[in-house]
Amino acid sequence: MQFTSGQRQRIRELDIFGEYGELLEGNFNSLEEREKKFKDLENELADKNHEQLKELTGQKFKSDVRIYEDKLRKILNQENFTEVMTPIRLARGKLERMGITSGDPLWQQIYWLQGGDYCLRPMHAPNLYEILSRFEKNLEKPVRIFEVGSCFRKESSGSQHLSEFTMLNLVELGPVNEPISRLEEIVELIMDGMEIDYQMIGEKSSVYGETVDVMVNDIEIGSGAVGPHELDKAWDIKDSWAGIGIGLERLIMANKGIASISRVGRSLIYQDGARLNI
Ligand code: ATP
Ligand code: MG
Repeated sequence: MQFTSGQRQRIRELDIFGEYGELLEGNFNSLEEREKKFKDLENELADKNHEQLKELTGQKFKSDVRIYEDKLRKILNQENFTEVMTPIRLARGKLERMGITSGDPLWQQIYWLQGGDYCLRPMHAPNLYEILSRFEKNLEKPVRIFEVGSCFRKESSGSQHLSEFTMLNLVELGPVNEPISRLEEIVELIMDGMEIDYQMIGEKSSVYGETVDVMVNDIEIGSGAVGPHELDKAWDIKDSWAGIGIGLERLIMANKGIASISRVGRSLIYQDGARLNI
């Protein structure tokens, strides 16, 4: 005899760190044994969820996304990166200038607004390009900026994708040394500052061609790229650059070993990994 599908579902909902997967497959000799095991597991997991919520409301007072965001902001400010805030509503032409057109996989993931004239931004890059092109003419290099905020992509769910997520994107125009070395240096600075172990690997990207991915516990938490790049011309950028986009919910789930990204994203069901209707 095994757990019912309802019981499995309940355990999964409460299992913040995905630790109980194997137990779900257990066999029981009697109904009584099964019900007792289920009750024990449910109580144990409910306690863990309660603890998590108590910590959030009694000690931390801030969601993990905000805590990580604050830490990252501090690290970047110390390195003279300036935070910018740009619109979440993006004109369709800006996507096209990023080389994202109707044939691209990312195009299929866009949430359109106002009959397709605008969309919810799927990334910060178009706005940051535009800001840099203005700064390039007026300011001394290096110019260092970053933005942190919501991005939107239609995703076919899965444990690592949200339709609405928080991206931190930084870029240094006219980097102080060779762009790729500077990118590595910036990643090291951030990850050491966050006290998180990571790896960097080369990856292909439909937008940038080549990217350098930052991995934490085998999960992609960020993708970096460097210029000069063929996209630069569309934005009138002439200097070299180094930039990276980091997903905050990905970083949190990878670093804390949380089973599914939906637990850490904006939600009415979960807060900080814990289920609300315990
Ligand atoms: P993936 O290949 O995992 O779908 P991606 O390479 O398309 O991600 P990028 O465009 O490189 O994503 O975005 C930079 C970072 O933003 C990613 O490394 C990831 O941390 C985060 N990110 C991207 N899409 C999502 C999403 N749907 N939900 C949560 N985080 C995301
Ligand atoms: Mg990527």
